[in-house]
Amino acid sequence: MKKISLNTQILLGTLLGVSLGLWFAWLGQASSITQNGLYVAKLAGTLFIDLLRMVLIPLVFTSIVVGVANLRSHQQMSRVWQGTLIFFVLTMALAIVLGLTVANLLQPGGGLEIAMFQDVMQGFQATQMSLSDFFAHFLHSLFKNPIAALAQSNVLAVVIFALLLGIALVVGGERYRNILTLMQEFLELILMLVGWIMRLAPFGIMALLLQLTATQDTNLLTTLIKFVAIVMGTILLHGLVVLPLILYLITGMTPLKFWLGAREALITAFATSSSAATLPVTLRCAEQHLHVKRDVAGFVIPLGATMNMDGTALYEAVAALFIANLAGVELSLLQQMVVFLTAMLAAIGAPGIPSAGMVTMVMVLQSVGLPVEAIAILLPVDRILDTVRTMVNVEGDLVGSLVVQKWIKQDQSNE
Ligand code: ASP
Repeated sequence: MKKISLNTQILLGTLLGVSLGLWFAWLGQASSITQNGLYVAKLAGTLFIDLLRMVLIPLVFTSIVVGVANLRSHQQMSRVWQGTLIFFVLTMALAIVLGLTVANLLQPGGGLEIAMFQDVMQGFQATQMSLSDFFAHFLHSLFKNPIAALAQSNVLAVVIFALLLGIALVVGGERYRNILTLMQEFLELILMLVGWIMRLAPFGIMALLLQLTATQDTNLLTTLIKFVAIVMGTILLHGLVVLPLILYLITGMTPLKFWLGAREALITAFATSSSAATLPVTLRCAEQHLHVKRDVAGFVIPLGATMNMDGTALYEAVAALFIANLAGVELSLLQQMVVFLTAMLAAIGAPGIPSAGMVTMVMVLQSVGLPVEAIAILLPVDRILDTVRTMVNVEGDLVGSLVVQKWIKQDQSNE
């Protein structure tokens, strides 16, 4: 018998979860079937979230250390890596600002409060701080004893420490080769664990959705459709207008020429939902179709596959605002700035594999005190959204390689 793909399994889990949930809702809370069913679903759903939380810290830590430390073999190309980092950060910032703007205008999830979060949100209201306190608190939460941060799942402090450690590995050079190899292998192992957890995703999703639909009103589904449309539309706006415009303004390449050259990579990214899996195709497109020099492409593209994720960054920002709306919380400007920062770090920290952005989403939610359980709502639509966001992630890497190449050429001709 042919094995059913994970995507299909997730779809089946989604459908089954929603149907069972609706059936339980129809039976009513008093029925013993509902009570027992909900008990099991709660156990299974929580277990799945626990598993995701289990790998989050080692995943973010190793993927950032390895990503930053890989700059080391290119020390001589300081111009390339400066240009690359500036491009990555600026385009991701643009994507997030675009996402936040659209989400503020269209308010996905507005006016619909989810009872499941109410208990958690009571805690949130109580810990509301003044703006200046909040800022001071945020600053102090950046630098922590890394062992404590790892133990307490303090993602932000872990990210900052990983960035610094990665930079130290670049500066330290060849002497610390062993530590870098250790980190690389550790990352591979964690990714293996993530793969195993994703196999449980259909059950986890089913359990979480069952719980949700059995205890909530169906308005959520209508709201989700609006959310999906907003995220897709905005990511496509970034991919079809913003990135091609940047490319045209800097290099003069027309969007049509770019898309023809990038086509293979974009389709592969859409189909695999993984920047990492697409990497060989992306490199081929950059070198053979778009004529980016090997040393530039060989640096910008692999680094971009783990660090540069415009689609993911945009998605995380919009999703955070969506969850805040569902939880009935209005995020202040300052909190939205925290979302801006953490969405960028979460996109940088997410490895280029399917649904990685969903795992690092936890960090964005935690940074502004939103309930982590909310990813239950995002999970069923994650696979659909992952296709477009990965496509735009890869597009960003290709545009980046062309822009950096142009930048270096200009530099050489000025000398
Ligand atoms: N799947 C995305 C990628 O590989 C990451 C994400 O989940 O957003 O680029």
